[in-house]
Amino acid sequence: MNYHQYYPVDVVNGPGTRCTLFVAGCSHQCRGCYNQSTWRIDSGHPFTPAVENQLIDDLNDHRIRRQGLSLSGGDPLHPNNTSAILRLVKRVKRECPDKDIWLWTGYMLNELNELQQEIVSHINVLIDGKFEQELHDPTLIWRGSNNQVIHYLR
Ligand code: SF4
Repeated sequence: MNYHQYYPVDVVNGPGTRCTLFVAGCSHQCRGCYNQSTWRIDSGHPFTPAVENQLIDDLNDHRIRRQGLSLSGGDPLHPNNTSAILRLVKRVKRECPDKDIWLWTGYMLNELNELQQEIVSHINVLIDGKFEQELHDPTLIWRGSNNQVIHYLR
């Protein structure tokens, strides 16, 4: 899996102060996508064990208390990303049990395959659905268009 940006202190993508990872790879091709540079799976940089370890350390760093991890992109549930994301969310739940995980995807919750569903079983909040330009509403929080749904799972 490749990623584009990792923000160890982020207050924009989800509630509270968070670590946020924007991964590479998205096949939804939404019209008006704000992040087209992330579509190719080979764009960005490799998500190495060192980056993953840094992310875990940041979540557990008590000097700046983070509420959790936000996973966006690109699409964290793109087939090229699912095995790395599953490993990551399992690790966060195991090693950072007091942190929540929010994940943004262009897929709909009811169309996820088995592996994607397994990832979702480890996260707290899923924001699903493609970005629909005609349903864009700048007053929405944590989603870009009205069709997208914030699923509070646990
Ligand atoms: S799902 Fe997100 S990253 Fe992918 S094309 Fe749509 S808006 Fe862009």
